[in-house]
Order: sequence, then structure tokens, then C-alpha cells
Amino acid sequence: MRRIPYFDNTRGKEEKMSSELIEKALTTATETHDIVFGDNVTDQTGRMFTTLFPGKKVLVVADGNTFAATGDAVVASLKEAGVDFADDPYIFPGTPTLYAGYENVEVLREYIRPFEEAIVCSIGSGSLNDIAKLASGELGREYMNVCTAPSVDGFAAFGASIARDGFKITRSCPAPAGLIADTEVVCNSPQRLIATGYGDLIEKIPAGADWILADALGIEAINEYVWNMVQGPLRASLADPVAIGKGDKQAIEGLMEGNLMSGLAMQAGQSSRSASGAGHQFSHTWEMEGHGLDWEPPLSHGFKVGIGTIASCAIWEEFLKMDVEDFDIDHALASVKSPEEVEAKVRSLLQPRMQDEAVRHSLKKRTEGEKLVARINLLKEKWPELRERCKAQLMSPGDVMDRLKAVGAPYHPELIEIDWERFRETHVKAQMIRDRYTVFDILVDLGVYDKVVEHLFSEEGFWGQHRHPEV
Ligand SMILES: [Zn+2]
Repeated sequence: MRRIPYFDNTRGKEEKMSSELIEKALTTATETHDIVFGDNVTDQTGRMFTTLFPGKKVLVVADGNTFAATGDAVVASLKEAGVDFADDPYIFPGTPTLYAGYENVEVLREYIRPFEEAIVCSIGSGSLNDIAKLASGELGREYMNVCTAPSVDGFAAFGASIARDGFKITRSCPAPAGLIADTEVVCNSPQRLIATGYGDLIEKIPAGADWILADALGIEAINEYVWNMVQGPLRASLADPVAIGKGDKQAIEGLMEGNLMSGLAMQAGQSSRSASGAGHQFSHTWEMEGHGLDWEPPLSHGFKVGIGTIASCAIWEEFLKMDVEDFDIDHALASVKSPEEVEAKVRSLLQPRMQDEAVRHSLKKRTEGEKLVARINLLKEKWPELRERCKAQLMSPGDVMDRLKAVGAPYHPELIEIDWERFRETHVKAQMIRDRYTVFDILVDLGVYDKVVEHLFSEEGFWGQHRHPEV
């Protein structure tokens, strides 16, 4: 990765190392004003704090593990910059693994509340950053985070993925005002947190194809600027899963950069479209079902997304095998389900608490009559070019599986304790839970999705050929 020293007017004539891409991306981020990413940059925490929050007191928040990783250095930097501490560092227990549950958000929020003018400087990876983000957001306060692992693209994104009543959803709240990502710290994070970051990032490959599709069909136009923020560094960031799995510093820096850029792209686009497609919808389904939340450590977002990425690429592979003659308008029109049938199917498959929202999304996507005819005609017209573009964008499901294996992430649904029937059923449920147009939806519109899933799980299909993880 290329790094450039750059001159920053806001802080006087000081040089710091950071990624050129991230610097450019910060100019369009709506909530994040500063990111310092590079070697030995923790000592810039204090200066970032005084620049972003002049005159404010700090509350340092960490858990036992993240404080051990870099807490002393963060505190020293804040002290050196003359920042006043509202209280001693607040440290959640490190064991069992801190869990991004709403009860922890409430604990932190009520702890912060009386320190009226204080700003949180959290030290953590996905869970702690999300807890601090939502707790601060609910009090209408900004915050900043010192990243300790490259585990998610959520560091620089708005919204926090938080569990409540046994299931996980994303709650809206602003992104951090500032982030410190010290490569020395990030590269020394536990292997599972590095592998999970790879799982979250690799889904941007099929998510890109989903967006190309939605754009071609006139459903959701590609924003070139946002697209380039994610897709520009993506392949380089994903290029060497073996090196990432072995802890190679340069390779892990690339992963961190990819995940930071993805969060900034969501801010620039004010949408998660650039970062999340059908593959993420597998993960969201399992998160809403509470799968793995009570494990120790809890099953991570990126581990579920990685499996969803293989699944999405397998569906895409089937779609790309089709020719214009396979897009049968009469069959599509005859396959449209009535609103009552759509609703009944959603309610029969999903847990009660997921149903109402999924019914809304599914009915919104339901397409019939002239509109459906026009969509399929447009698909036919664009197919030769669209198919080539998507082929160039995608990876094969086998390639994704190999990469996840190389990085040390789960690479088969069995490895995250999703059994065969549940996995197959998730293919249907995942289509229902969001209104974002993806590869699921074109196949539903064509009236062939059930057949595609059936094929994938047949003996000749991808999953039929990969019934169990190879050892
Ligand atoms: Zn994600």
C-alpha cells in the first residue's frame, strides 16, 4: 500500500503518515472528520481529541483486552496533549468476550450521562466501537475511537449493530468524529478478529455485482465516487489471504484500509448499498435469529458474512449461466405471487418479530404486469454487456471458500453450526428481509429462484458438491 506524508493545515506544520485514499475520502464523510492510520500513531490520540473537541473532558472507555492492547499509550497521549479526564478509564471486563448487547449500551450511556460535557474516547474493535457509538449517539454526543483490530467495516460507518432481546439489528447513530488506527496495534490483534474482517470485506465483491445489476435495471444508480471508494482498493486488500492469515503486517494494513474505506463510502453515499448485498442478507438473517450470540466468543459478523458471500457467489454463478432465451416473460408473469401469497410465505418462514418488516420489504419489491415485462425486456437488452461486467466483478464460490480457509475464517455453513436444511432455507428467508434489489430479486422476478436454489443443493449443484467442509 502506498503511503504519503501530508501537510495538514488544521494542526500546524506537522507531518503524519496516512493513506492517500482515506484522506480523500474524509473530505466527503459527513460525520468523521479525521482518521490517522499508520505505524505508531497512537501518540496522536491526544492531539486529535483536542482538535476535534476543544475544551472538552475525556472519558476513556475500553474492555480488559483492548485496554491491555493500547490503553496506557492512549491515556499517555491524552495527558500529554493536556486533555482533562472526567474520570478514570471505564473498563468493561475482558472475559467473557464483551458482547455488543443493548444492556452494555445502557450501562455505558448511564455512566457517561452525568459527565455532561465529556466526550468518549473508546478503545476497541467492532463491539466496543458499536457500544460507544450508540451510547454517545443516544446522548447526542460525538465520540472518537482507537481501533484495535481490522475486524469490521463499521468503524467509520454510521449505525451500530447491537443485540437486544436475543437478536441483533443495526440501530441508527452517527459515525465517530475521529479514528486512530495504529497498524502496530491492529496487526497484533487476535487472529479471529483479523479473519472476521476479511469475511466482512470480501462480500463487497458480490455486493458490487448486485449494485451493477440494480443500476442496469434502472432501480438504483451507481454513484461512481462511492463505488470507487469501495471497489478501488478492494482487490488489493483481499489479494493475499494467506499472508493475512499468517499475520503479515502489510497485508493486514491493506485489509484495515479496505474496511475503513468501506465505512467512509457508506457515509459519502448515506447508504450501505456500496458495502452490503445479498451475501450480507444471509448474515443479517442469522443475526436477527440470534444465531451464535450466546457463544463464547459470540459468532462474529464477518464469519457469517463470509459464508453468505460464498452463497451469494454461488447464486450469481447460476444466474450468469443463463442466456437471453432463458428470460421467459410469460413464465415470469405466471409466477408472480399475489400480495396475500407473499405475506403468507414470509409469515410461514420467519420468526414473529421479523415478520412485519419483512412483509413490508417483500411487498415493496413485488413486481407484476407491465413493470415486470419492461424490467425483463431491459435485462434482455443489457444482458450481453451486463453479464460480462458482472463476470469481471465476481469471484467463483470455490475461490471465496478457498480464500476464507486461507485466512483462517469459517468457510462452510457447518463450521458456524448452520445445518443443511437451515442453510437452504436461509436462501429463501434472506431474500425477504430487505428491500435492496440484489441477485435474489432478479431471480424471483424471473420466477426461477426456487429452481436455482434447488439446483444448488442438488448433486450437480455447488452445495451438493460441497456438502461438508473439506479438511
Ligand atoms: Zn458487514
